[in-house]
Amino acid sequence: MQSEALQIDALAYRKALGHFTSGVTVITTAMNGSVHGMTANAFCSVSLNPALVLISIDKKTAMHELLAQSGFYGVSVLAQNQEAYSRHFAGQPQTNLPVLFTWRQNCPLLEGALAQLVCRVTDAHPAGDHTLYIGQVEYLSYSDEHAPLLFYSGKYKALEGQATGPTFIYDPSWW
Ligand code: FAD
Repeated sequence: MQSEALQIDALAYRKALGHFTSGVTVITTAMNGSVHGMTANAFCSVSLNPALVLISIDKKTAMHELLAQSGFYGVSVLAQNQEAYSRHFAGQPQTNLPVLFTWRQNCPLLEGALAQLVCRVTDAHPAGDHTLYIGQVEYLSYSDEHAPLLFYSGKYKALEGQATGPTFIYDPSWW
């Protein structure tokens, strides 16, 4: 039996999905020594062994074409005090914002980020108007010095208060 695709209103889709709170990352890559960065929150962990992550990149972006060529990307998870970088790398250039990259495994990463990953593209899946770039993690670092920048319902947010209870370490064998 064939079912008709449900018509989803674009604004309602954006609003509903906006209720899923995320962190914010800056995705970076480089071609011939020239660095390109863009803000992305469509980022998630995919697999522990091997260590794989996923980013979803709009086909209209400059990053989309660059990733297809470079075959690698950096993920810099933004701290709460880095909102200006999120705006800047989303196409709203910020004046007097120092943009500094640190290089690991020949990949640029944004300085001061909470966590940094270097990923080699292992798969690229077309998905509607985006492409899902799956990357194998080849380098990582993190710091607990700052709180994360959050994105909810189209606005930047901060964590309220301190977490209670012990740290939860996710164990995939429970799944
Ligand atoms: P451009 O728009 O040309 O560049 C991006 C900006 O980065 C420009 O301001 C440019 O000056 C600056 N820049 C780039 N490289 C450098 C450099 N080396 N030094 C200094 N500045 C530099 N889009 C998605 O496809 N997927 C997502 O998951 C996603 N999530 C988003 C989440 C948030 C919170 C926001 C605000 C936007 C998100 N976007 C996402 C939209 C995306 O960030 C924008 O469409 C972005 O402009 C696309 O970048 P581009 O590659 O086309 O490059």
